[in-house]
Amino acid sequence: MTQATLFERIIAREIPATIVFEDAQCLAFKDINPQAPLHALVVPKRPIPKVSDAVPSDAALLGHLLLVAAQVARDAGYGEAFRLAINNGAGAGQTVFHLHVHVLAGRPLTWPPG
Ligand code: 5GP
Repeated sequence: MTQATLFERIIAREIPATIVFEDAQCLAFKDINPQAPLHALVVPKRPIPKVSDAVPSDAALLGHLLLVAAQVARDAGYGEAFRLAINNGAGAGQTVFHLHVHVLAGRPLTWPPG
């Protein structure tokens, strides 16, 4: 049996988190180590380790995550200026191997990112 990811344990309410949105396909909750006044994570309930593991049949789910991420920013009052980030692989900074979209807003977001 494969071990549940950290985010599956948050989805199962085994680990507490501040949940800001939930529907049948995904959960959004505040990041434990926020990098901006709004820093939420949108995660699919069906775990996909990283974007590069997604397959064509995941397309609707991936699109849904983006729509929910925009809604999370809007609901927090940052609908016009927010950044979505997805780290893919350890070399790009991914530390939790359950695909998640970072939603960052509420401070100047410079480019390029670090
Ligand atoms: P990654 O580095 O994989 O793109 O992002 C993982 C994110 O998960 C990090 O921003 C980190 O702060 C967040 N994180 C790690 N452990 C927990 C936790 O137990 N609860 C919450 N809410 N966020 C977590």
